[in-house]
Amino acid sequence: MFDKKRAFNKLKRIKDLNIAEDMSMAPFSNFKLGGPADIYIRPQTEKAFVAAIQLIRQEDWKLTVLGLATNVLISDLGIRGIVCQLSPEMAGINILDNELTASAGARLSDLAAKGAAAGLAGLAFSSGIPGSVGGAVVMNAGAYTGKMADIVLRSQYLDAEGQVRTLEATEHNFNYRGSFFNDNTDCFVINTTFKLQPAPAQDIYDEMSDIALRRYKSQPLNYPSAGSAFKRPPGHFAGKLISDSGLKGFWHGHAGVSGKHAGFIIQDGKSNASEVLEVFHIVQNKVYENFDVMLYPEVKFIGDWQEELPQRNSD
Ligand SMILES: Cc1cc2nc3c(=O)[nH]c(=O)nc-3n(C[C@H](O)[C@H](O)[C@H](O)COP(=O)(O)OP(=O)(O)OC[C@H]3O[C@@H](n4cnc5c(N)ncnc54)[C@H](O)[C@@H]3O)c2cc1C
Repeated sequence: MFDKKRAFNKLKRIKDLNIAEDMSMAPFSNFKLGGPADIYIRPQTEKAFVAAIQLIRQEDWKLTVLGLATNVLISDLGIRGIVCQLSPEMAGINILDNELTASAGARLSDLAAKGAAAGLAGLAFSSGIPGSVGGAVVMNAGAYTGKMADIVLRSQYLDAEGQVRTLEATEHNFNYRGSFFNDNTDCFVINTTFKLQPAPAQDIYDEMSDIALRRYKSQPLNYPSAGSAFKRPPGHFAGKLISDSGLKGFWHGHAGVSGKHAGFIIQDGKSNASEVLEVFHIVQNKVYENFDVMLYPEVKFIGDWQEELPQRNSD
């Protein structure tokens, strides 16, 4: 049985760690949904992150680590145990020669901006992805011209025993929207070093603004979402299958499929996580019925769910 008071009092003693009890997750997730976390912590430094995880491991408390929560749907019932969110408070970015090292909480957009200002190319593709470095490495986030796998040199991470270790580029085992960390969910990215190439800053800014414009034109950025709801099925595009199933612009209560980009499941600000989950099921079933193609969620379902979750593939 999780002794919340005891956990709170022990974690509270760690320096540079913000902590709260029964904290609603809705304001901290891009979907703007999610019930309370029993205990919610936000480390301000890598040292505080390591200390908190080591204590949590020693005590065997239930733990969920999140970045900016842009690729997750958190249940209305919330999350039991401890949620550690790596936010831009733990977001140091350092550049040495052509290498940029960032703490896991750093925003990708800040990284891209810093890289461009230093005349270092390679991160422009990530400039419009709204997540953190940690979440992006876990998911092998990618867009347009690149993906994390192209630029990651090494990561420092905490292993299942709470030891700090280093993972070299190839050991990340990157694959489509996955990595070593998807297969080892008890390991957590502390920071990552990226290998970049010198280039004229103006060229990088031009690439970033071109990408920003493409996103603005094609994505429903004014609605809460978690980006592309489903992974790209081999030989198809999820958005096209959804659109060809007549679901583009479909609403189910206050949640639905974007009319601008059928790959995005959105909500209008009045929905709840269960209703959004129903849309995942409706879309998955309808596309399967029509085309015999199973769409597997790219979005992760976090917290306590009473409902059945959509079928996933191996990750
Ligand atoms: C409008 C919009 C557009 C998007 N466009 C793209 C796109 O073009 N390409 C793309 O790939 N994605 C895109 N996404 C999805 C999302 O932004 C990326 O997957 C992003 O990399 C997730 O980062 P995050 O910090 O939000 O991770 P979270 O959503 O917080 O977490 C994702 C997963 O990583 C785990 N995790 C997070 N941090 C750590 C850590 N430090 N150590 C270990 N595990 C961790 C979590 O437990 C969870 O399982 C988009 C999302 C939105 C809302």
